[in-house]
Amino acid sequence: MSPSDEARIMAARVEAFVREKIVPYERDPRRDHHGAPTGELVAELRELARAEGVLTPHIKPDGHHFDQRGTALILTKSGLSPLGMLACNTQAPDEGNMYLIGHVGTPRLKERFLTPMIAGRATSAFFMTEPAELNGAGADPSMMITACRKDGNHWVVNGRKCFITGAGSATIGIVMARSEDRDSLGGACMFLVDLPDPAIRITRVPNTIDTATPGGHAEISIENLRVPADQMLGNAGEGFKYAQVRLSPARLSHCMRWLGGCIRAQEIATDYVNRRMAFGKPLIDHEGVGFMLAENLIDLKQCELMIDWCAGVLDAGSLGTAESSMTKVAVSEALMRVADKCVQVMGGTGVTDKTIVEQIFREVRAFRIYDGPTEVHKWSLAKKIKRDWKQANG
Ligand SMILES: Cc1cc2nc3c(=O)[nH]c(=O)nc-3n(C[C@H](O)[C@H](O)[C@H](O)COP(=O)(O)OP(=O)(O)OC[C@H]3O[C@@H](n4cnc5c(N)ncnc54)[C@H](O)[C@@H]3O)c2cc1C
Repeated sequence: MSPSDEARIMAARVEAFVREKIVPYERDPRRDHHGAPTGELVAELRELARAEGVLTPHIKPDGHHFDQRGTALILTKSGLSPLGMLACNTQAPDEGNMYLIGHVGTPRLKERFLTPMIAGRATSAFFMTEPAELNGAGADPSMMITACRKDGNHWVVNGRKCFITGAGSATIGIVMARSEDRDSLGGACMFLVDLPDPAIRITRVPNTIDTATPGGHAEISIENLRVPADQMLGNAGEGFKYAQVRLSPARLSHCMRWLGGCIRAQEIATDYVNRRMAFGKPLIDHEGVGFMLAENLIDLKQCELMIDWCAGVLDAGSLGTAESSMTKVAVSEALMRVADKCVQVMGGTGVTDKTIVEQIFREVRAFRIYDGPTEVHKWSLAKKIKRDWKQANG
Protein backbone atom coordinates (compact mmCIF):
# COMPACT_ATOMS: atom_id res chain seq x y z
CA MET A 1 0.00 0.00 0.00
CA SER A 2 1.30 3.44 -0.83
CA PRO A 3 1.19 6.19 1.81
CA SER A 4 -2.24 7.74 2.30
CA ASP A 5 -3.23 11.11 0.88
CA GLU A 6 -3.54 12.29 4.49
CA ALA A 7 0.15 11.45 5.06
CA ARG A 8 1.19 13.11 1.80
CA ILE A 9 -0.70 16.29 2.69
CA MET A 10 0.85 16.38 6.16
CA ALA A 11 4.34 15.77 4.71
CA ALA A 12 3.86 18.70 2.29
CA ARG A 13 2.79 20.96 5.16
CA VAL A 14 5.81 19.91 7.22
CA GLU A 15 8.14 20.55 4.28
CA ALA A 16 6.75 24.03 3.67
CA PHE A 17 6.96 24.82 7.38
CA VAL A 18 10.56 23.64 7.75
CA ARG A 19 11.81 25.36 4.60
CA GLU A 20 10.00 28.66 5.13
CA LYS A 21 9.84 29.09 8.91
CA ILE A 22 12.60 26.94 10.41
CA VAL A 23 15.56 27.14 8.05
CA PRO A 24 16.00 30.89 8.81
CA TYR A 25 16.57 29.92 12.47
CA GLU A 26 19.65 27.86 11.57
CA ARG A 27 21.73 31.02 12.10
CA ASP A 28 20.11 31.71 15.50
CA PRO A 29 22.90 32.06 18.09
CA ARG A 30 20.91 30.55 20.96
CA ARG A 31 23.02 27.41 21.51
CA ASP A 32 24.28 25.68 24.64
CA HIS A 33 27.96 25.13 25.48
CA HIS A 34 28.13 22.21 23.10
CA GLY A 35 26.34 23.75 20.17
CA ALA A 36 22.82 22.38 20.67
CA PRO A 37 19.78 24.67 20.56
CA THR A 38 18.79 26.09 23.95
CA GLY A 39 15.47 25.24 25.60
CA GLU A 40 14.27 28.77 24.87
CA LEU A 41 14.94 28.38 21.15
CA VAL A 42 13.24 24.96 21.02
CA ALA A 43 10.18 26.32 22.86
CA GLU A 44 9.91 29.18 20.35
CA LEU A 45 10.15 26.78 17.38
CA ARG A 46 7.55 24.48 18.96
CA GLU A 47 5.10 27.36 19.24
CA LEU A 48 5.57 28.06 15.53
CA ALA A 49 4.90 24.39 14.75
CA ARG A 50 1.83 24.38 16.98
CA ALA A 51 0.44 27.48 15.25
CA GLU A 52 1.07 25.87 11.86
CA GLY A 53 -0.62 22.57 12.84
CA VAL A 54 2.57 20.53 12.34
CA LEU A 55 3.48 19.73 15.94
CA THR A 56 3.88 15.95 16.37
CA PRO A 57 2.68 15.54 12.77
CA HIS A 58 3.24 11.77 12.65
CA ILE A 59 0.53 11.16 15.28
CA LYS A 60 -3.05 11.93 14.35
CA PRO A 61 -5.38 13.94 16.62
CA ASP A 62 -7.08 10.67 17.73
CA GLY A 63 -3.71 9.42 19.09
CA HIS A 64 -3.06 6.89 16.31
CA HIS A 65 0.26 6.95 14.49
CA PHE A 66 0.40 7.26 10.74
CA ASP A 67 1.59 3.96 9.33
CA GLN A 68 5.34 3.64 8.84
CA ARG A 69 5.23 4.51 5.15
CA GLY A 70 3.29 7.68 5.90
CA THR A 71 5.60 8.39 8.83
CA ALA A 72 8.58 8.05 6.45
CA LEU A 73 7.28 10.87 4.26
CA ILE A 74 6.58 13.13 7.23
CA LEU A 75 9.78 12.49 9.20
CA THR A 76 11.99 12.88 6.14
CA LYS A 77 10.52 16.35 5.59
CA SER A 78 10.95 17.28 9.27
CA GLY A 79 14.64 16.29 8.89
CA LEU A 80 15.30 18.83 6.14
CA SER A 81 16.74 20.94 8.94
CA PRO A 82 18.25 19.64 12.19
CA LEU A 83 15.98 22.20 13.85
CA GLY A 84 12.93 20.91 11.96
CA MET A 85 12.68 17.70 13.94
CA LEU A 86 12.95 19.61 17.21
CA ALA A 87 10.32 22.12 16.13
CA CYS A 88 7.92 19.41 14.96
CA ASN A 89 8.53 17.05 17.93
CA THR A 90 9.68 14.23 15.68
CA GLN A 91 13.17 14.02 17.17
CA ALA A 92 14.92 11.22 19.02
CA PRO A 93 14.54 9.98 21.64
CA ASP A 94 11.01 11.38 22.10
CA GLU A 95 9.63 9.96 18.87
CA GLY A 96 10.79 6.41 19.74
CA ASN A 97 9.67 6.79 23.34
CA MET A 98 6.21 7.92 22.27
CA TYR A 99 5.99 4.87 20.03
CA LEU A 100 7.01 2.55 22.87
CA ILE A 101 4.61 4.00 25.46
CA GLY A 102 1.86 3.99 22.83
CA HIS A 103 2.41 0.28 22.18
CA VAL A 104 3.18 -1.05 25.66
CA GLY A 105 1.70 1.46 28.15
CA THR A 106 -1.58 1.01 30.01
CA PRO A 107 -4.31 3.63 29.37
CA ARG A 108 -3.40 5.26 32.70
CA LEU A 109 0.31 5.47 31.87
CA LYS A 110 -0.48 6.80 28.40
CA GLU A 111 -2.69 9.50 29.84
CA ARG A 112 -0.06 10.56 32.36
CA PHE A 113 3.14 10.28 30.28
CA LEU A 114 2.26 10.05 26.58
CA THR A 115 -0.40 12.77 26.32
CA PRO A 116 1.92 15.62 27.42
CA MET A 117 4.63 14.35 25.07
CA ILE A 118 2.32 14.34 22.06
CA ALA A 119 1.21 17.85 23.03
CA GLY A 120 4.88 18.92 23.00
CA ARG A 121 4.71 19.88 26.69
CA ALA A 122 7.07 17.14 27.92
CA THR A 123 10.36 15.72 26.69
CA SER A 124 11.86 12.35 27.53
CA ALA A 125 15.06 10.34 27.83
CA PHE A 126 15.73 6.63 27.35
CA PHE A 127 18.12 5.10 29.91
CA MET A 128 19.63 1.90 28.54
CA THR A 129 23.36 2.21 27.77
CA GLU A 130 25.94 1.91 30.56
CA PRO A 131 29.61 2.90 30.89
CA ALA A 132 32.10 0.83 28.89
CA GLU A 133 34.58 1.08 31.78
CA LEU A 134 32.12 -0.89 33.95
CA ASN A 135 31.49 -3.37 31.11
CA GLY A 136 27.81 -2.49 31.22
CA ALA A 137 25.13 -2.57 28.51
CA GLY A 138 26.37 -1.22 25.18
CA ALA A 139 26.28 -2.90 21.80
CA ASP A 140 25.24 -5.92 23.89
CA PRO A 141 22.30 -4.72 26.07
CA SER A 142 22.17 -8.07 27.89
CA MET A 143 25.27 -6.94 29.83
CA MET A 144 23.05 -4.58 31.83
CA ILE A 145 24.34 -4.00 35.36
CA THR A 146 21.82 -1.42 36.58
CA ALA A 147 19.60 -3.50 38.84
CA CYS A 148 16.10 -3.28 40.28
CA ARG A 149 14.47 -5.11 43.15
CA LYS A 150 10.94 -5.13 44.50
CA ASP A 151 10.30 -3.44 47.84
CA GLY A 152 6.61 -3.61 48.80
CA ASN A 153 4.64 -1.53 46.29
CA HIS A 154 7.79 -0.01 44.84
CA TRP A 155 10.82 -1.03 42.83
CA VAL A 156 14.24 0.25 43.84
CA VAL A 157 16.78 0.93 41.07
CA ASN A 158 20.55 1.36 41.40
CA GLY A 159 23.21 1.70 38.72
CA ARG A 160 24.97 3.86 36.18
CA LYS A 161 24.05 4.95 32.65
CA CYS A 162 25.73 6.90 29.87
CA PHE A 163 24.96 8.53 26.51
CA ILE A 164 21.49 9.39 27.81
CA THR A 165 20.29 11.88 25.22
CA GLY A 166 18.47 14.90 26.58
CA ALA A 167 18.55 13.70 30.20
CA GLY A 168 19.30 17.20 31.47
CA SER A 169 16.09 18.75 30.20
CA ALA A 170 13.76 15.73 30.03
CA THR A 171 10.68 15.63 32.24
CA ILE A 172 10.01 11.93 31.63
CA GLY A 173 12.47 9.03 31.77
CA ILE A 174 12.23 5.42 30.65
CA VAL A 175 14.73 3.61 32.85
CA MET A 176 15.87 0.07 32.08
CA ALA A 177 17.26 -2.23 34.77
CA ARG A 178 17.97 -5.90 35.26
CA SER A 179 15.59 -7.58 37.69
CA GLU A 180 16.81 -9.08 40.94
CA ASP A 181 13.27 -10.14 41.80
CA ARG A 182 12.67 -13.89 42.07
CA ASP A 183 9.77 -13.94 39.58
CA SER A 184 11.60 -12.07 36.82
CA LEU A 185 15.20 -12.77 37.80
CA GLY A 186 17.74 -11.75 35.13
CA GLY A 187 15.12 -10.25 32.80
CA ALA A 188 14.90 -6.50 32.29
CA CYS A 189 12.28 -4.08 33.56
CA MET A 190 11.34 -0.66 32.20
CA PHE A 191 10.08 2.12 34.43
CA LEU A 192 8.41 5.41 33.62
CA VAL A 193 9.69 8.11 35.94
CA ASP A 194 9.15 11.83 36.42
CA LEU A 195 12.27 13.92 35.98
CA PRO A 196 14.16 15.50 37.54
CA ASP A 197 14.46 13.08 40.47
CA PRO A 198 17.17 13.53 43.11
CA ALA A 199 17.98 9.81 42.84
CA ILE A 200 18.96 10.30 39.16
CA ARG A 201 22.06 12.47 39.03
CA ILE A 202 23.94 13.72 35.98
CA THR A 203 27.62 13.18 36.69
CA ARG A 204 29.02 14.49 33.40
CA VAL A 205 27.96 15.57 29.92
CA PRO A 206 30.78 14.76 27.50
CA ASN A 207 31.25 16.85 24.37
CA THR A 208 30.29 14.78 21.36
CA ILE A 209 30.69 15.05 17.60
CA ASP A 210 26.94 15.62 17.09
CA THR A 211 25.14 18.75 18.30
CA ALA A 212 21.50 18.38 17.23
CA THR A 213 20.03 17.37 20.58
CA PRO A 214 19.53 19.78 23.47
CA GLY A 215 21.30 18.61 26.59
CA GLY A 216 23.75 16.31 24.77
CA HIS A 217 24.29 12.76 26.01
CA ALA A 218 24.69 12.53 29.77
CA GLU A 219 26.44 10.16 32.14
CA ILE A 220 24.15 9.28 35.00
CA SER A 221 24.28 7.79 38.45
CA ILE A 222 21.10 6.20 39.84
CA GLU A 223 21.02 5.72 43.60
CA ASN A 224 18.04 4.14 45.33
CA LEU A 225 15.50 5.40 42.82
CA ARG A 226 12.08 4.35 44.17
CA VAL A 227 9.43 3.81 41.50
CA PRO A 228 5.81 2.86 42.30
CA ALA A 229 5.14 -0.63 40.90
CA ASP A 230 2.33 0.68 38.70
CA GLN A 231 4.84 2.84 36.80
CA MET A 232 6.44 -0.24 35.29
CA LEU A 233 6.09 -0.21 31.51
CA GLY A 234 4.74 -3.62 30.52
CA ASN A 235 5.62 -6.71 32.52
CA ALA A 236 8.59 -7.41 34.77
CA GLY A 237 11.36 -9.29 32.98
CA GLU A 238 10.22 -8.41 29.46
CA GLY A 239 12.20 -5.18 29.06
CA PHE A 240 14.60 -6.56 26.44
CA LYS A 241 11.60 -7.57 24.32
CA TYR A 242 10.13 -4.07 24.62
CA ALA A 243 13.51 -2.57 23.69
CA GLN A 244 13.16 -4.47 20.41
CA VAL A 245 9.61 -3.11 19.97
CA ARG A 246 11.10 0.36 20.29
CA LEU A 247 14.32 -0.16 18.39
CA SER A 248 13.10 -1.41 14.99
CA PRO A 249 10.86 1.59 14.26
CA ALA A 250 13.16 3.99 16.13
CA ARG A 251 16.17 3.07 14.00
CA LEU A 252 14.01 3.43 10.91
CA SER A 253 12.93 6.89 12.09
CA HIS A 254 16.59 7.93 12.35
CA CYS A 255 16.99 6.80 8.73
CA MET A 256 14.00 8.94 7.73
CA ARG A 257 15.15 12.09 9.53
CA TRP A 258 18.79 11.90 8.40
CA LEU A 259 17.69 11.14 4.85
CA GLY A 260 15.95 14.53 5.03
CA GLY A 261 19.15 16.10 6.36
CA CYS A 262 21.23 14.65 3.54
CA ILE A 263 18.71 15.66 0.87
CA ARG A 264 19.18 19.21 2.13
CA ALA A 265 22.99 18.85 2.21
CA GLN A 266 22.86 17.71 -1.41
CA GLU A 267 20.73 20.78 -2.31
CA ILE A 268 23.24 23.11 -0.66
CA ALA A 269 26.20 21.38 -2.33
CA THR A 270 24.40 21.50 -5.69
CA ASP A 271 23.85 25.23 -5.33
CA TYR A 272 27.53 25.74 -4.44
CA VAL A 273 28.96 23.79 -7.37
CA ASN A 274 26.69 25.51 -9.87
CA ARG A 275 27.76 28.98 -8.74
CA ARG A 276 31.42 28.39 -7.93
CA MET A 277 33.93 28.69 -10.78
CA ALA A 278 37.27 26.90 -11.07
CA PHE A 279 39.61 26.57 -14.03
CA GLY A 280 37.32 28.55 -16.29
CA LYS A 281 34.01 26.76 -15.68
CA PRO A 282 31.50 26.01 -12.90
CA LEU A 283 32.54 23.17 -10.58
CA ILE A 284 29.55 21.08 -11.68
CA ASP A 285 31.11 20.89 -15.16
CA HIS A 286 34.21 19.20 -13.77
CA GLU A 287 33.55 15.50 -14.06
CA GLY A 288 35.10 14.70 -10.67
CA VAL A 289 32.57 16.99 -8.97
CA GLY A 290 29.56 16.10 -11.12
CA PHE A 291 30.12 12.39 -10.56
CA MET A 292 30.20 12.86 -6.78
CA LEU A 293 26.80 14.53 -6.79
CA ALA A 294 25.49 11.93 -9.25
CA GLU A 295 26.61 9.16 -6.88
CA ASN A 296 24.85 11.01 -4.07
CA LEU A 297 21.65 11.10 -6.09
CA ILE A 298 21.84 7.32 -6.51
CA ASP A 299 22.57 6.76 -2.80
CA LEU A 300 19.71 9.05 -1.74
CA LYS A 301 17.23 7.24 -3.97
CA GLN A 302 18.40 3.85 -2.68
CA CYS A 303 17.96 5.08 0.91
CA GLU A 304 14.43 6.26 0.14
CA LEU A 305 13.52 2.92 -1.43
CA MET A 306 15.02 0.89 1.38
CA ILE A 307 13.20 2.93 4.03
CA ASP A 308 9.94 2.52 2.13
CA TRP A 309 10.50 -1.25 1.85
CA CYS A 310 11.25 -1.65 5.56
CA ALA A 311 8.32 0.60 6.51
CA GLY A 312 6.08 -1.67 4.44
CA VAL A 313 7.35 -4.72 6.34
CA LEU A 314 6.57 -3.08 9.70
CA ASP A 315 3.16 -1.95 8.43
CA ALA A 316 2.39 -5.56 7.54
CA GLY A 317 2.73 -6.40 11.25
CA SER A 318 6.23 -7.89 11.34
CA LEU A 319 8.73 -6.86 14.03
CA GLY A 320 11.08 -6.28 11.08
CA THR A 321 14.20 -7.06 13.08
CA ALA A 322 16.32 -8.23 10.14
CA GLU A 323 14.80 -5.73 7.72
CA SER A 324 15.42 -2.78 10.03
CA SER A 325 18.99 -3.97 10.61
CA MET A 326 19.60 -4.12 6.86
CA THR A 327 18.01 -0.72 6.36
CA LYS A 328 19.88 0.91 9.23
CA VAL A 329 23.23 -0.32 7.93
CA ALA A 330 22.53 0.53 4.29
CA VAL A 331 21.09 3.98 5.02
CA SER A 332 23.55 5.14 7.68
CA GLU A 333 26.54 4.05 5.58
CA ALA A 334 25.11 5.58 2.38
CA LEU A 335 24.26 8.85 4.11
CA MET A 336 27.81 9.03 5.46
CA ARG A 337 29.07 8.79 1.87
CA VAL A 338 26.59 11.44 0.76
CA ALA A 339 27.45 13.88 3.55
CA ASP A 340 31.17 13.37 3.00
CA LYS A 341 30.89 14.14 -0.71
CA CYS A 342 28.80 17.24 -0.01
CA VAL A 343 31.55 18.51 2.29
CA GLN A 344 34.21 17.66 -0.30
CA VAL A 345 32.66 19.46 -3.28
CA MET A 346 32.17 22.58 -1.19
CA GLY A 347 35.89 22.87 -0.42
CA GLY A 348 36.77 24.83 2.71
CA THR A 349 33.21 26.13 3.00
CA GLY A 350 32.09 22.54 3.50
CA VAL A 351 33.81 22.28 6.85
CA THR A 352 32.61 25.63 8.18
CA ASP A 353 29.39 26.40 9.99
CA LYS A 354 28.31 28.72 7.16
CA THR A 355 25.93 25.95 6.10
CA ILE A 356 24.42 22.93 7.86
CA VAL A 357 26.43 20.56 5.65
CA GLU A 358 29.23 20.15 8.19
CA GLN A 359 26.68 19.50 10.97
CA ILE A 360 24.89 16.86 8.89
CA PHE A 361 28.28 15.19 8.33
CA ARG A 362 28.88 15.08 12.10
CA GLU A 363 25.36 13.89 12.93
CA VAL A 364 25.46 11.07 10.41
CA ARG A 365 28.83 9.91 11.77
CA ALA A 366 27.24 9.31 15.18
CA PHE A 367 24.23 7.64 13.55
CA ARG A 368 26.47 4.78 12.38
CA ILE A 369 26.92 3.91 16.08
CA TYR A 370 23.69 4.55 17.98
CA ASP A 371 20.67 2.25 17.71
CA GLY A 372 23.13 -0.54 16.94
CA PRO A 373 26.56 -0.06 15.35
CA THR A 374 26.88 -1.23 11.74
CA GLU A 375 28.99 -4.23 12.76
CA VAL A 376 26.44 -5.45 15.32
CA HIS A 377 23.65 -5.37 12.74
CA LYS A 378 25.84 -7.25 10.25
CA TRP A 379 26.74 -9.76 12.95
CA SER A 380 23.09 -10.40 13.84
CA LEU A 381 22.28 -10.77 10.12
CA ALA A 382 25.11 -13.29 9.78
CA LYS A 383 23.59 -15.27 12.66
CA LYS A 384 20.25 -15.24 10.86
CA ILE A 385 21.91 -16.47 7.65
CA LYS A 386 23.39 -19.39 9.60
CA ARG A 387 20.06 -20.11 11.35
CA ASP A 388 18.15 -20.10 8.06
CA TRP A 389 20.78 -22.34 6.44
CA LYS A 390 20.53 -24.82 9.31
CA GLN A 391 16.75 -24.84 9.06
CA ALA A 392 16.91 -25.46 5.33
CA ASN A 393 19.55 -28.17 5.62
CA GLY A 394 18.30 -29.99 8.71
C1 LIG B 1 24.97 10.27 19.84
C2 LIG B 1 24.55 9.09 20.66
C3 LIG B 1 23.34 9.11 21.33
C4 LIG B 1 22.95 8.03 22.13
N1 LIG B 1 21.77 8.09 22.85
C5 LIG B 1 21.44 7.07 23.68
C6 LIG B 1 20.28 7.17 24.53
O1 LIG B 1 19.53 8.17 24.51
N2 LIG B 1 20.01 6.16 25.39
C7 LIG B 1 20.81 5.04 25.46
O2 LIG B 1 20.51 4.15 26.25
N3 LIG B 1 21.92 4.94 24.68
C8 LIG B 1 22.26 5.92 23.81
N4 LIG B 1 23.40 5.83 23.03
C9 LIG B 1 24.27 4.68 23.18
C10 LIG B 1 24.34 3.75 21.98
O3 LIG B 1 23.16 3.04 21.86
C11 LIG B 1 25.60 2.91 22.16
O4 LIG B 1 26.71 3.77 21.96
C12 LIG B 1 25.66 1.74 21.22
O5 LIG B 1 24.70 0.78 21.55
C13 LIG B 1 27.05 1.06 21.29
O6 LIG B 1 27.39 0.76 22.60
P1 LIG B 1 28.84 1.21 23.14
O7 LIG B 1 29.04 2.64 22.87
O8 LIG B 1 28.97 0.77 24.56
O9 LIG B 1 29.87 0.42 22.22
P2 LIG B 1 30.58 -0.98 22.55
O10 LIG B 1 29.58 -1.94 23.08
O11 LIG B 1 31.78 -0.71 23.37
O12 LIG B 1 31.02 -1.42 21.09
C14 LIG B 1 32.11 -0.74 20.43
C15 LIG B 1 32.22 -1.20 19.00
O13 LIG B 1 32.50 -2.59 18.97
C16 LIG B 1 32.03 -3.14 17.76
N5 LIG B 1 31.21 -4.32 18.08
C17 LIG B 1 30.43 -4.55 19.16
N6 LIG B 1 29.82 -5.75 19.07
C18 LIG B 1 30.23 -6.31 17.91
C19 LIG B 1 29.98 -7.54 17.25
N7 LIG B 1 29.13 -8.44 17.75
N8 LIG B 1 30.58 -7.76 16.05
C20 LIG B 1 31.42 -6.85 15.50
N9 LIG B 1 31.69 -5.66 16.08
C21 LIG B 1 31.11 -5.40 17.26
C22 LIG B 1 31.21 -2.05 17.04
O14 LIG B 1 32.01 -1.46 16.05
C23 LIG B 1 30.95 -1.06 18.16
O15 LIG B 1 30.78 0.27 17.67
C24 LIG B 1 23.80 6.90 22.23
C25 LIG B 1 25.01 6.89 21.53
C26 LIG B 1 25.41 7.95 20.76
C27 LIG B 1 26.73 7.92 20.05
